[in-house]
Amino acid sequence: MSQKRTHEIACPFCGREQTVDLWDSLDVDRDPELREALLAGRINRVECAGCRKSFRIDLPLVYHDRERDVFIHYEPLAGGRTLEQAEQGFREAVRELQKAWPPDVVPPEIHLVIEWSELVERVFLLEEGLDARLVEHVKYLMYRQNPAKLPAETKNLLFDAQDSTDAQLCFVVQDRATRKLEALLNFARADYEALVNVFDSGEQLALLEEQLPGPYVNGRLRCLRDQAEK
Ligand SMILES: [Zn+2]
Repeated sequence: MSQKRTHEIACPFCGREQTVDLWDSLDVDRDPELREALLAGRINRVECAGCRKSFRIDLPLVYHDRERDVFIHYEPLAGGRTLEQAEQGFREAVRELQKAWPPDVVPPEIHLVIEWSELVERVFLLEEGLDARLVEHVKYLMYRQNPAKLPAETKNLLFDAQDSTDAQLCFVVQDRATRKLEALLNFARADYEALVNVFDSGEQLALLEEQLPGPYVNGRLRCLRDQAEK
């Protein structure tokens, strides 16, 4: 069920305090218009009653789309929350959900994201039928191959469904500080399919899960961890 809750917030621009209703759960099967609203950046976006400036409030958000098999939990690291705490909260939420799941139905795979851009990206990626862990592995390879042009410290790589073709998976380079989109990079879909085949066997899949264990799976962070270990 889609759900909104009332929050007291202060405008980040003028400081005015106000009461707003914000989504904490989007059930896209029942409310398909919420998918469009999310992809258009309208979810949990507030216009200040005082200065009229618009901003997004980063609160945890659950996105469920049974029809397309897309289940994502957005757990922003707001207010000094660490990744470990977000992962812990996520694990508890998943356990609760699995308890409530009908015993004769296999529970869905639920994804954890911590940045808004990742939430939107993950919706597109799963709707395209791509494997999120494998796509993060592809990003890891791209960071490793282009350390000068694509420093993992400062640049995000985001899957771009709109510019992808049958031949190429397209990725946008985003600067982490300015959030600006700077360049497009391609990865041959045939190479992705080859990786799907490589990681099809249990042994290889175990290696991939060791590289990107989760529940939060991120090729950029994996790359940074490798660099720190060197
Ligand atoms: Zn304001």
